[in-house]
Amino acid sequence: MQIVFIGPPGVGKGTQANMLVDKYGVLKISTGDLLRDAIKAGSPLGNQAKGYMERGELVPDELVLGLVQEKVSIPQSNLKTFIFDGFPRNIQQAIELDKIMLNIHSKINLVIDFTMDEEDRISRLSGRRMCPKCQRTYHIKFSKPKVDNLCDICSVQLVQRSDDNESVIRQRSAVYWEHTRPLLEYYKKQEILKSIDASQPIDKVFISLENLIAPLLGA
Ligand code: ADP
Ligand code: ADP
Ligand code: ZN
Repeated sequence: MQIVFIGPPGVGKGTQANMLVDKYGVLKISTGDLLRDAIKAGSPLGNQAKGYMERGELVPDELVLGLVQEKVSIPQSNLKTFIFDGFPRNIQQAIELDKIMLNIHSKINLVIDFTMDEEDRISRLSGRRMCPKCQRTYHIKFSKPKVDNLCDICSVQLVQRSDDNESVIRQRSAVYWEHTRPLLEYYKKQEILKSIDASQPIDKVFISLENLIAPLLGA
């Protein structure tokens, strides 16, 4: 069972993916998280990716694909459930993902399109805070940590992502419309596309998501 989350930045994909991980033990593959880990580790890949991310552009496909390939290369990967969060982000990546899936004798079963109003989405992004250690995300209004500005798990001071500023947010949204949006047609043709109203509160979105996914997970 392989699931792809598609939606513009800030729509809540990562939040929902983490909730599925916590409740169902599925595996999340977030290329954004993996790239930030690579930057933190100072790896050559991280150094190559850094500038693109700071500008809000897509990191070149071959770098991202290498990370995904590595993550799915685990024993019995075809029996696992992966949630792809923020990947694929263009048609070429989607074609490559199909090949990766074929190689592990699996396929994408469900693609969820997270939809919401542009303005509310931008306010989600500007209030987003992240734990620099575990990458868990919070929100200054909608998803507060238990102790002000500290990660619930790590007790580390939360930070604002450097790309969560107005001009880079605008650029990331433009990239979404130009490169990622066409994926909806790609998956619609395969008849595996469903959409979810992401404007609802976090727990309501989760219920809608579970309604789509739980039957497929055998839950
Ligand atoms: P958001 O959750 O706000 O959509 P992500 O954490 O998914 O942001 O991505 C942050 C940045 O990482 C993107 O702006 C882009 O530069 C890079 N990135 C993440 N995933 C991909 C991908 N699949 N292909 C290319 N670049 C990516
Ligand atoms: P994405 O992964 O799609 O970029 P995130 O999951 O990081 O989005 O969510 C963006 C911000 O909005 C975070 O600060 C998160 O806490 C908050 N958020 C996520 N879902 C909701 C929701 N349904 N209602 C209000 N705020 C939300
Ligand atoms: Zn943390």
